[in-house]
Amino acid sequence: MFDKLHEECGVFGIFGHPEAAKMAYLGLYALQHRGQESAGIAAGPNGGDRLAVHRGMGYVADVFGQSELERLPGQMAVGHVRYSTAGASKLVNAQPILIDCSHGQLALCHNGNLVNASELRDELVGEGAIFQTSSDSEVILHLYARSKEHRPEQALIASLARVRGAYSLVLATSDRLMAVRDPHGFRPLALGRLGGAVVVASETCAMDLIGATWERDLEPGELVVVDADGVHSHKPFPPARHAFCIFEHVYFARPDSYVFGESVNEIRTAFGRQLARESAVGADVVVPVPDSGVCAATGFAEETGLPLRIGLIRNHYVGRTFIEPQQSIRHFGVKVKLNPVRSILEGKRVVLVDDSIVRGTTSRKIVRMIKAAGATEVHVRISCPPTISPCFYGVDTPRRSELIAATHTLEEIRKYLDADSLRYLSLEGMLSAVNSHRGHYCTSCYTGHYPVPFPREQGTRAPLPLQLVNRRSPDEESR
Ligand code: SF4
Repeated sequence: MFDKLHEECGVFGIFGHPEAAKMAYLGLYALQHRGQESAGIAAGPNGGDRLAVHRGMGYVADVFGQSELERLPGQMAVGHVRYSTAGASKLVNAQPILIDCSHGQLALCHNGNLVNASELRDELVGEGAIFQTSSDSEVILHLYARSKEHRPEQALIASLARVRGAYSLVLATSDRLMAVRDPHGFRPLALGRLGGAVVVASETCAMDLIGATWERDLEPGELVVVDADGVHSHKPFPPARHAFCIFEHVYFARPDSYVFGESVNEIRTAFGRQLARESAVGADVVVPVPDSGVCAATGFAEETGLPLRIGLIRNHYVGRTFIEPQQSIRHFGVKVKLNPVRSILEGKRVVLVDDSIVRGTTSRKIVRMIKAAGATEVHVRISCPPTISPCFYGVDTPRRSELIAATHTLEEIRKYLDADSLRYLSLEGMLSAVNSHRGHYCTSCYTGHYPVPFPREQGTRAPLPLQLVNRRSPDEESR
């Protein structure tokens, strides 16, 4: 696998469409990049005003066929694709989670991570609650089921008043769809229309696929309830400092989406232009790491006037597993996915652009691959600042000790990559490229300053100092 932070989850909901489950299937298909471990859809109401659910491990197309979708009738559906950020990767943790309680049925889809889930879980277990999953999301359902409020939206508000952290939720009861974004707005959630139907999705690319029109994003702290009477917006939570995840723009979101009201492609390309202004270098050609570096490399090439060439070809048909040859081939794992184009690279000074470096293992193999194809110099340019701190808000990050930029100097990383030079985009430069919301972003994985405190035991995942420090090289450390 490429050495990247993993996407969190994708959520989708639709109300008022005769083929709601099929629309959810297509929406999840477009959101597949946000989670590949499991997929699920809950739909209804069907006979007796009930919701039905189907979930499975794997890609959306593996989990759903015609027959599964036909067993999900109704004009409302909510769906989820998951990469486990909390809770193990197994079917019981797949979403939507569907419960039956005194408020009736509720299906929940969650993108994000709750920082006080363990503490609430201990409290609830102490009071006799029986948890079915190891996912943080189930805490919300237990709080909901215990709420004395009468209306589902009031019970949901009371539950969410007790949780802290990141959540973009899409929920269904037997007669209404609810969507809510946490007061910090960590994760995106967009609202749109498809004819008379109302659609919500993590990213607008899901709306494009089904022909829906994006109207706006849910505001941080906004709860939208959609029922037979229309769309109702509530702002039940005290305002909080906004903390939109800037990594959505760096890597997670698809470039054809609008996220936090901005075109991902435009922001990502602006990162590349700014990177070029900060760290241009004498070179012959700009080469992106596909697909993650393409937008930033385009911006870098535009700004410098250097030609942008596709010097690495990605095999898009690689499955999750493959049979390795018995006699080891050097860098086999990365070679299966990427192949250099010798005619572009031979005898050239190459600027290699990528969006981020996590452990550095893949970047090193790519640099060596380009040199082996005949490049005379390889200058690595990264379109975000050094990743020095883990995420506690729904992104799967390795321990700080595994983040190469947390434990090594710039020069040590350059040497490890075997690059002729290495530069990252500055934090100031990154924020200057995000246009309208520059003060509203979370940048904790680059700064170590966290907008929402997390419990001490989670912090033990991050035991190292935050500065770039002089340490042994990763080669020496792995010996
Ligand atoms: S810590 Fe990084 S990945 Fe996590 S929400 Fe903040 S910017 Fe996003």
